Amino acid sequence: MRFLVVLSRRGRLALLACAVVLAGAVSLRWWPEESRREPRQAGERFPLAGRLIALDPGHGGIDGGCSFGPWLEKDLALDIVLRLRPLLHDAGARVFLTRQSDHDLSFQGQGSFRQRRDLSGRVALVRRSGAEVLLSVHLNAAHSPRLSGPITFYQSIDARADGRNDVGWSAQVAASRRLASLVQEELRALYPGCTEWFWPNRFYLLRHSPCPTALVEVGYLSHPKDRLHLLDPAFRQRIAAALATALRRYFAGEESALE
Ligand SMILES: [Zn+2]
Repeated sequence: MRFLVVLSRRGRLALLACAVVLAGAVSLRWWPEESRREPRQAGERFPLAGRLIALDPGHGGIDGGCSFGPWLEKDLALDIVLRLRPLLHDAGARVFLTRQSDHDLSFQGQGSFRQRRDLSGRVALVRRSGAEVLLSVHLNAAHSPRLSGPITFYQSIDARADGRNDVGWSAQVAASRRLASLVQEELRALYPGCTEWFWPNRFYLLRHSPCPTALVEVGYLSHPKDRLHLLDPAFRQRIAAALATALRRYFAGEESALE
């Protein structure tokens, strides 16, 4: 009886050893394959998961941007970005903001003029954040009240700040253009009849940004109908949702229908 008990313990030990060996075999043979598959499937279903996105609300502090009466571009741009941030968080993205309150970034940057220090400060913050893309959010104004709708700018192939035009810059410009076209496509759906487009530009932020960057003017404060939209919190929420969709499509590798 005692012998049988010992045997039974040994049997259990042997069984345990077999289980360990089997588990090891399973982990070596099959688990890596599964683990390789999982993130890819997750990325396909949740393209924003784990991505680091920088959002830049234009202007701030002493620099109000464009205005209509008491309404200032800096406040409306920040409002849209603060609406966009939780949408990206909910989709699993990490979000870096160049500012979260009403101040400029000139204390972060360098240059003779405040505006240059402000812009170089934004670039420095984005560079330090390690963000994969940058979306800078602005509102537009023009002397002509007929101009309406969003315009999105991307990085220009011949306008890199250091003058170099290598393979890395070409890839960044292509990504910047794809992001801008997706942003423009999503926002145009909110402005029926809009004729504005997406363009390359030589803005300081676009020339100096270390990652694919789009600068979007989400509508004209100078246009009566645009203005009604832009001053409506519900419409600004729709703008934020459109920008979130554009970023999700960008990280899913989609192309815009505007191309
Ligand atoms: Zn602006």
